[in-house]
Amino acid sequence: MARQARRVPRSRAREEALAAAAAVRVADAYDVVVVGGGASGLAAAIAAAEAGASVVVLERDVACGRTILATGNGRCNFMNARLCGPAPAWGRYNDPAFVEAVSGPGFGDDVLAFFEGCGLAWAEEEGGRLYPLSRQAASVREVLLARARRAGVVLAPAREVTGVSMDGTRCRITCQNDPKMGGKCQVMSSCAVLSVGGGPTLARSLGPLGLGLAPFEPVLCSLACEPAGAGVSLAELDGRRAHVTARLLRDGAEVAREEGEALFRPYGLSGIVTFDLSRAARAGDVISLDLTCGMDPGSTRRLAHAAGGCTGLVDPVIARALGDDVERVRDLRFAVRGPAEPERAQVTRGGLATRQFDPATLEARALPGLFACGEALDVDGACGGYNLAWAWKSGLVAGRAAAKSAGRRA
Ligand SMILES: Cc1cc2nc3c(=O)[nH]c(=O)nc-3n(C[C@H](O)[C@H](O)[C@H](O)COP(=O)(O)OP(=O)(O)OC[C@H]3O[C@@H](n4cnc5c(N)ncnc54)[C@H](O)[C@@H]3O)c2cc1C
Repeated sequence: MARQARRVPRSRAREEALAAAAAVRVADAYDVVVVGGGASGLAAAIAAAEAGASVVVLERDVACGRTILATGNGRCNFMNARLCGPAPAWGRYNDPAFVEAVSGPGFGDDVLAFFEGCGLAWAEEEGGRLYPLSRQAASVREVLLARARRAGVVLAPAREVTGVSMDGTRCRITCQNDPKMGGKCQVMSSCAVLSVGGGPTLARSLGPLGLGLAPFEPVLCSLACEPAGAGVSLAELDGRRAHVTARLLRDGAEVAREEGEALFRPYGLSGIVTFDLSRAARAGDVISLDLTCGMDPGSTRRLAHAAGGCTGLVDPVIARALGDDVERVRDLRFAVRGPAEPERAQVTRGGLATRQFDPATLEARALPGLFACGEALDVDGACGGYNLAWAWKSGLVAGRAAAKSAGRRA
């Protein structure tokens, strides 16, 4: 009988990862230190090393690239095809002008050329979403780690950076090793790339640099809502999904519109359409769902009349919960209370204010030698691969520029 492959227990996998991390030798000085080995940090490290710089990635987790594994429900929606061609969908970002200035018209094509160079095959799904052909986020992580190693990048996980300071023309990076490894390390470099992702960890480690931070706010998250008007029971709808056109209304005026899947939860709304609206939603706004996705009112009424209810238009469970009321199927309203489960938000808005960075290089204007990329900057995008696309592209821009700058500063 063939032996069944057994999973390595999580604790043992961690021990093994820590042992591998402890075996990595970090030198005293590099051309470029990359702080954070997630999506943008790996892209930056590869770009800098391939441009001839000596590069180390300091990562606080026990291995690099682990944030990639959770993306796209483990499938990694790594890019969106609508970013390709001469007119990329800049409008899917909170700061389209900055993203355009950083990325240029070749945004998506550059990202795909980079992944082609990594040896990744991909496939396109609805809405231009691009996934690895394997539909495994691990494929994306593995090809990046392999390319980083081939380029000579030193990947040094289990090392949390606790301070970054500028010492004349040099950067001084201090880090705390994982408690199991013990000790601290200090690395000097010509340039540093900040790729620590979103959230307050950034403020803690970078506070002394005096860079301005835009306030942090969870986005791409579920919304706590209450049924508005002639109510519907959220408990009755819990777990049901519907393809909808969703409009976000403020004082009666439409401020955002999305089409896609909504998921009803006892606390309110989830699903991709809600995640996208969460980028603009405020407490007090109203979400109107059209479960017919814009079908004309005459046709909906005719079909509902023919079926003797709304079961031919929408999921019968939803139809019953809405009392087979055609008007509610076309305009089901919820009052927004705020983000639900903010700790599970996919992205944190806020971070390093973009005006402090030169878009051509992503170098801090006031701190030459210091670069930033990915979610560490105050850039966020819609669902559909836009956030990872930004992580890769901004990482490539910052990494290439850091290598060039290190050459000049050496
Ligand atoms: C559940 C989930 C699913 C997602 N799915 C998608 C998707 O399918 N498509 C998409 O486009 N986007 C998705 N996103 C968003 C996407 O993952 C992020 O936008 C992207 O990873 C940001 O890249 P980054 O390099 O800026 O940050 P990260 O990938 O978060 O990397 C930051 C790295 O820095 C390390 N770090 C932090 N502080 C320190 C420190 N002090 N010292 C050393 N290391 C440090 C972290 O451990 C981490 O490895 C998802 C997010 C989540 C949470």
